[in-house]
Amino acid sequence: RPVFERRFAVQSWNSGGKIPLGLKRKGLRIVVTGGAGFVGSHLVDRLIERGDSVIVVDNFFTGRKENVMHHFGNPRFELIRHDVVEPLLLEVDQIYHLACPASPVHYKFNPTNVVGTLNMLGLAKRVGARFLLTSTSEVYGDPLQHPQVETYWGNVNPIGVRSCYDEGKRTAETLTMDYHRGAGVEMRNDSLGHDCGIDRQRWSGPNLDCAMSAPSHMQVRIARIFNTYGPRMCIDDGRVVSNFVAQALRKEPLTVYGDGKQTRSFQYVEGLMRLMEGEHVGPFNLGNPGEFTMLELANVVQETIDPDAKIVYKPNTEDDPHKRKPDITRAKELLGWEPKVSLHKGLPLMVKDFRQRIFGDHKEGGS
Ligand code: NAD
Ligand code: UDP
Ligand code: UDP
Repeated sequence: RPVFERRFAVQSWNSGGKIPLGLKRKGLRIVVTGGAGFVGSHLVDRLIERGDSVIVVDNFFTGRKENVMHHFGNPRFELIRHDVVEPLLLEVDQIYHLACPASPVHYKFNPTNVVGTLNMLGLAKRVGARFLLTSTSEVYGDPLQHPQVETYWGNVNPIGVRSCYDEGKRTAETLTMDYHRGAGVEMRNDSLGHDCGIDRQRWSGPNLDCAMSAPSHMQVRIARIFNTYGPRMCIDDGRVVSNFVAQALRKEPLTVYGDGKQTRSFQYVEGLMRLMEGEHVGPFNLGNPGEFTMLELANVVQETIDPDAKIVYKPNTEDDPHKRKPDITRAKELLGWEPKVSLHKGLPLMVKDFRQRIFGDHKEGGS
């Protein structure tokens, strides 16, 4: 366990030197960057449910306060408006780093992947926190191997319109692994030769034991998430599932780009905590191997919302990957993880949420 995690536990359990009676598990202090977004807000719910204290760091570029406002007033929840491109000082046990515009419509405008990831890695290194990066199936680019295994290096255009995202995430993975391999030698030593990235005064006491137990490698985890959908997705963010669902509900035609024969594999929002708590760095593909062409997806949306919904064809975007499907053998074997919710079961849950948000029943944030 990270040094800080244990020392924080000592500090917070140890007021007066006694562990309060009846306290079984010490909740962790966890930062979720991008926690006001779609995936992040579901993760925050699970962490709060588990008894952890959560600090959401978000600049609301695509996220919404509504996604997390049901936690306002909970002393274990904090929300900080902050752009991760700027440095940030916090004392925490774990960092889930999700902050990043994830839709093609938004991600062209932002250097978050590289600079934001560097800052959060710097933070993790300083306090000895475990760091999880939400990378993406986009690192495989327009894949020449199908399905994609984690050992495949990908086929990515380094100067294309999507490069800010896919090359950005590839760089974020590189940085994460470099910090993992290098942090042991980079950590600053204090006058006693202890690895102490944080303020010794604040944490000094009989149980200060960072010297003996400092990890030689920074603890990192990498998830390669495949196309995810679910309640709280940004309605007009341009991704295909949100587009089709919103269009069908608004009685507009479904916009199929290109010939609609390109494939994606869609997973309902789940995962991540198993990876953070496990023993393996990854990268791990987290996705649903069920593969659909965009026309097949349009048909599922028609069946779910409106069988009469029309389809219109629009020109495809540049460098659009032709197919994508995860091989999740590694996640199954090493994490014991596999998706539980099929598209036919998950889509109606998202439709319910979109219906409420589009037609003005403002009870946001269903899950
Ligand atoms: P989202 O847009 O709903 O959430 C991203 C969040 O990050 C938003 O709340 C946004 O406001 C915040 N953010 C963006 N830039 C920021 C910055 N500079 N500083 C602070 N906050 C910032 O997207 P999502 O689908 O929830 O994606 C979350 C993560 O999962 C992203 O890292 C994304 O790349 C990854 N991912 C998502 C999918 C998917 O299909 N949803 C697939 C692969 C990977
Ligand atoms: N950083 C941060 N919070 C911290 C520690 C570091 O935001 O608590 C940022 C820091 O500003 C720097 C980046 O993380 O831009 C990388 O930090 P690191 O210490 O690894 O590198 P250095 O500062 O030595 O270049
Ligand atoms: N797409 C589509 N209609 C839309 C939006 C997207 O046919 O209204 C297609 C897009 O061309 C791509 C696929 O759906 O082939 C998935 O696009 P998305 O942006 O959701 O995810 P990504 O391309 O990042 O996997």
